[in-house]
Amino acid sequence: MDSNKKINCRSDSSSEDLPAEKKKKIINCLKCKAKPHNVNIRKNYPLCKECFLSFMQHKFRTNIGQAKKVKKGVNVLIALSGGNCSRALLDIFYKYHKGAENPKSGKIQRFKDIAVAYIDDSIITGESHVQKIKEIVTPYDIPLLIRPIEDIFSISLDDNNDNYKIITVKNKDGKKELEISQNTNIDNKTAMKELYESIPLLADKECLINNIRLVLLNYMAKISKYPVLCLGDSSTKVAIDVISNTCKGRGSSLPEDIASETELLKDVVIIKPGKTLLKEEFIQYNEYFDLDYIPEKQYNSSEIAKSIDLISAGFISDLQENFPSTVTTVVSTANKITVEEENYSSYHCSLCLCPIRKDSEKWLASNSITEVKDRTDYNYDHTEVYKNIPKYYQYLCFNCHILIDSINLQENQTVYLPYYVAEKINKYISASSS
Ligand SMILES: [Zn+2]
Ligand SMILES: [Zn+2]
Repeated sequence: MDSNKKINCRSDSSSEDLPAEKKKKIINCLKCKAKPHNVNIRKNYPLCKECFLSFMQHKFRTNIGQAKKVKKGVNVLIALSGGNCSRALLDIFYKYHKGAENPKSGKIQRFKDIAVAYIDDSIITGESHVQKIKEIVTPYDIPLLIRPIEDIFSISLDDNNDNYKIITVKNKDGKKELEISQNTNIDNKTAMKELYESIPLLADKECLINNIRLVLLNYMAKISKYPVLCLGDSSTKVAIDVISNTCKGRGSSLPEDIASETELLKDVVIIKPGKTLLKEEFIQYNEYFDLDYIPEKQYNSSEIAKSIDLISAGFISDLQENFPSTVTTVVSTANKITVEEENYSSYHCSLCLCPIRKDSEKWLASNSITEVKDRTDYNYDHTEVYKNIPKYYQYLCFNCHILIDSINLQENQTVYLPYYVAEKINKYISASSS
């Protein structure tokens, strides 16, 4: 064993004595061609620090410039989760905004005011990051709007909060029932916790939280008079969403979900100016400017196995490792998907506000069975399933059907869906009857 070690040591030290030309060649920055490169995140694009930072700003500016629905001189609300990407994007946005404000820079001021929005989900995670978020935002001296996620239970999207109709999800004789009833006695915290806890699988819990977080952010932008909502999605996140949303039954709203520019709520345009930048590039940006962020939660393998988002993230990152163009290929391919208007319902999902494919509730039923009677016979009778399509499913998208289906209640136990869901459904019902 000892002699082996000696051989290893000798071979190691001898490599240091290699002639200079055999040592690894120093690659210069591809952009300025003068300085040696510092980063090579895209593998075929080595850049020095200065060129890397200007590359990021350039990508950001191009994305902002391409937003067609965004008018000049409007206010922008920047959604901050505190994670690497949204953290870096806040800094890039702020510098862009200040630069644009400086008349000497010769640029036209594109936005009026910018502010930050944060959704506090500590009621679900049991961990509050509010203090850290305040520390991150304070140096910028811009407004910080914070809302707890349970506020989703007290918002009205159509300024029609006078009737307090709410959807109750019940388990009646082993059957799921949705009912609209009058209820003004909802405690937001309890309702949020009970709804979250009634969903057993992590993958479905993710759906719920992702959907309502986005609705709440849109609502915050709307009532605070910020017609533009900026999300911190990187291209890595978009590529992950393409895979995970498809697995979750959100394929039909994919064009809307991953669009660079979209409108879920009237008068609020959602933009994703980080959509052409990789997550690793945002991480590098934070490192260069020594910016503090909220570290990603670490999961063990059994937790990962229960989450569609985490499995998709692992799938993309494993591929990206060996094939550095994976993310850009997935995103650019998905960007080509378009919506065939005639296949979609005239209204949007009452829960997640995304487009609904026509008859998706019947599609769900035609692909579902109540029990397996004969393993060799695939000609199932779906009549029973058709009869059992819960009421109001036609006002929800396929992804939200799966979500509501996953709610697991004891006999006579009830949970509530936020007020705005009943508000939307009532609006659609009265529009179709008039
Ligand atoms: Zn350079
Ligand atoms: Zn939906």
